[in-house]
Amino acid sequence: MSLKTAAQIRREFLEFFKAKEHLIVDSAPVVPKNDPSLLFTNAGMNQFKPIFLGEQDGLKDDGKIWKRAADTQRCIRVSGKHNDLEEVGHDTYHHTLFEMLGNWSFGDYFKEQAIEWAWELLVDEWGLDPDRLYATVFEGDESDGLPADDESARLWVEKTSISPDHVLKFDKKDNFWEMGETGPCGPCSEVHVDLRSDDERKKKPGAELVNMDDPRVMEIWNLVFIQFNRQNDGSLVKLPAQHVDTGMGFERICAVLQRKTSNYDTDVFQPIIQKIADLAGKTYGDDEETDIAMRVIADHIRAVSFSIMDGASPSNEGRGYVIRRILRRAIRYGWDRLDFKKPFMSKLVPVLADQFADVFPELDGQIEYIQNVILAEEKSFLNTLGQGIELFNSMIEGKKKLSGDDAFKLHDTYGFPIDLTELMAREKGVEVDTDRFSELMKEQKERARAAGKFTASEKSDLEWTVIKDAESEFVGYDDVKTNTSILATAQRDDQKLILLQQTPFYAESGGQIADTGFIERGSEKLRVLDVQKSDKGHVHYVDQLPEDPSGEWIASIDIERRREIEKHHSATHIMHSALRDVLGDHVAQKGSLVAPDRLRFDFSHFESVKQEELDRIEQQVNEKIQENIPLLEERNVPIDQARDQGAMMLFGEKYGEQVRVITFDPNYSVELCGGTHVDATGRIGYFRFLSETSAAAGIRRVEAVTGKAADQKLRNEQRLLKQIQTVLGNQKDVLPGIQNLIEKNKELEKELEKLRQSQAGDSLDQILENGKEVSGVQLYTGKVDGADMDTLKQLGYDALEKMKSETVVVLASVDTEEGKVYIMAAVTDDLIQKGVKAGNMVSQLGRIVGGGGGGQPNLATAGGRFPEKIEEAFEKAEELIQSEL
Ligand code: ATP
Ligand code: MG
Repeated sequence: MSLKTAAQIRREFLEFFKAKEHLIVDSAPVVPKNDPSLLFTNAGMNQFKPIFLGEQDGLKDDGKIWKRAADTQRCIRVSGKHNDLEEVGHDTYHHTLFEMLGNWSFGDYFKEQAIEWAWELLVDEWGLDPDRLYATVFEGDESDGLPADDESARLWVEKTSISPDHVLKFDKKDNFWEMGETGPCGPCSEVHVDLRSDDERKKKPGAELVNMDDPRVMEIWNLVFIQFNRQNDGSLVKLPAQHVDTGMGFERICAVLQRKTSNYDTDVFQPIIQKIADLAGKTYGDDEETDIAMRVIADHIRAVSFSIMDGASPSNEGRGYVIRRILRRAIRYGWDRLDFKKPFMSKLVPVLADQFADVFPELDGQIEYIQNVILAEEKSFLNTLGQGIELFNSMIEGKKKLSGDDAFKLHDTYGFPIDLTELMAREKGVEVDTDRFSELMKEQKERARAAGKFTASEKSDLEWTVIKDAESEFVGYDDVKTNTSILATAQRDDQKLILLQQTPFYAESGGQIADTGFIERGSEKLRVLDVQKSDKGHVHYVDQLPEDPSGEWIASIDIERRREIEKHHSATHIMHSALRDVLGDHVAQKGSLVAPDRLRFDFSHFESVKQEELDRIEQQVNEKIQENIPLLEERNVPIDQARDQGAMMLFGEKYGEQVRVITFDPNYSVELCGGTHVDATGRIGYFRFLSETSAAAGIRRVEAVTGKAADQKLRNEQRLLKQIQTVLGNQKDVLPGIQNLIEKNKELEKELEKLRQSQAGDSLDQILENGKEVSGVQLYTGKVDGADMDTLKQLGYDALEKMKSETVVVLASVDTEEGKVYIMAAVTDDLIQKGVKAGNMVSQLGRIVGGGGGGQPNLATAGGRFPEKIEEAFEKAEELIQSEL
């Protein structure tokens, strides 16, 4: 029987569970958007966390709630609780990014079916040899107060054909699965496979190698029985229902079914390995050192490409930094072991895209963008990599330990992530003082933090004084002023906070800044300075708290300011469409700010936007403004319907079931948005770009103004033009006027230069009046103020013209701005034959003034750094003549 391809294996897995009434769902992005506890999606269950926690019922599809699902989820394990980075490439079965095949029961079936079906698929469908399979179960844990999972052990024996001595018990490290420090968790039961030869299996039973990090006896599938939620304080709370969460390593099962002992030998990795081998001019399998490098690169390009595809990009912190680290690790391996001294990683992206065209087609649509981001990173790191490696080698020369300060320098100046430095150190058998390194990093962070303002996370732990028990409600889409009650107040340091029952104040979100205004009653006026979202409702930051908060209040926002914000927000939507129209569909929003006096918008686009393109975008936005397109605002639209309407969705963004859709012409701009907008585009008035710059690798930033701010900008420009005209003597046409000035300035500079030279010439004459006789030769020395090297040379030639024989002239000048010294020596021809040579002379004089030089025997120049040594150099000239003659 021919072996199955990877694509076939993936398909058969999904079909197997589809036949068992599972809903097949898409992989979530590897960059989770709504879970701050997680840097990257690290397991298939992440996207179902709300269901496990009882916050959501199951999966809605086709008007039905599904309690069973299956999918292939791309996962990344390079940070937090699950971090396999160290192993990747060195072993053959851990990856930074891998696909996890999973089936789920949301409070539906439990252990029995999960175990039965896993066996059915592996043994009955795929024909694995039961004798090579092992199942592990949880042995219990006293500190968590959990008993052993005897039920699973019994089910394996009763419901499958596994031999009872292949069912093994392990502790919580191996058989109690947790996604992170907190969150859904539970005991698990794993399937391991023994891939060794029959001979070896006879010598040592596989049972002894399970969970022993032997690549030939590896875990392939984990069946997790989710029953608890791990709390912040470490305790376990029982969940309302029991769930099944399974994860099978796709690359591993491919290796097993394709009878390989390494994931990299399967058709999942071979195309990319081949491409790398081609680029390197090497063969995979020839040499373990270069094989490791090829594996690292083949693996890392996947993690990097998919993260960028899902909306992250290399940067200096958080997620972006992890991506940067992975990329740099691969580049270093390529440099060191495959002799890749030029960018190569970006060339691998098309191979990946081709391979994943059927599963993750999003990759194909973004090839160019991903390549560009990677290429830029490669270029910048390759610039310093060589120097950094050299420095590293000199730092560890003759040492057993690399100091924390040195590691920090490599990090700070050469961009070496600490794990890269550690890796290099390990290869050389050297330790790294990571404690000192962390200390330095912490100090740097603190310096940075001291410079910034406090962050949202520090806002928690407020003590609220409750005035009235009711829900808080935002009414600001419809009202700018409302009667209301104060629900609660709080104070911390000099911050004073208020919760309102009804509030027209928009809280900062989606880039739009908060409204300001007043909460008032009679003559008592509380000024609202800022508004932020919280789980209790909008929090109003006010200048003072009321003496008596009870009773009725009137809340009103600064309407004029809100109107200006709205103009900028609606203009942002229109500009977004115009950007896509002019630059292409790869343009995706990466961040935005909407204020009353300007807007800022970050988007993916690789090169700077050309002036001509900016003009076209600006023109298109203004045309749309003049069309006066009315706003269509729809609240509580089901997400699927919004998608059908063609609403722009951000990559990797997770949206709720119901969304708000803002449309300006269904064929032009449809966006999901919680912000406030003008009722028709004409109100925006006028749109004008302020700037276009780079925000990060592959991300551009534009700033623009509309409404009053645009009006103000035009007025300012007009005023500036008037002022220029006045300065130019009331010339109407300022351009020729300015060009004239520049021309004139150039001429004046030339004249000045001439003047300088003639002045220097004056002093040459003076110098030539005061010679000194040395061994029958006339030696003239002197300083020429303000002369540069060329002037000195010219003076030297002038002097040789005047003094035909038996003469040496040594001139010096000082460039006070740069702190440099120039020296020139000229020697008449008759002396050259006698052994006095200008070239030799200046090289010695140059040394005295801390530099060097050289030239022809009759005229040579030198430069140096010690103006105070000029006299000494003159004396040296005398000595040199004496010693030659
Ligand atoms: P291991 O002990 O081999 O690291 P694990 O216990 O960390 O595995 P789980 O968290 O149970 O793995 O994940 C479920 C499945 O995903 C595993 O059975 C394995 O097949 C696969 N898997 C886990 N980590 C990786 C990885 N880094 N690369 C490839 N596959 C992986
Ligand atoms: Mg692991």
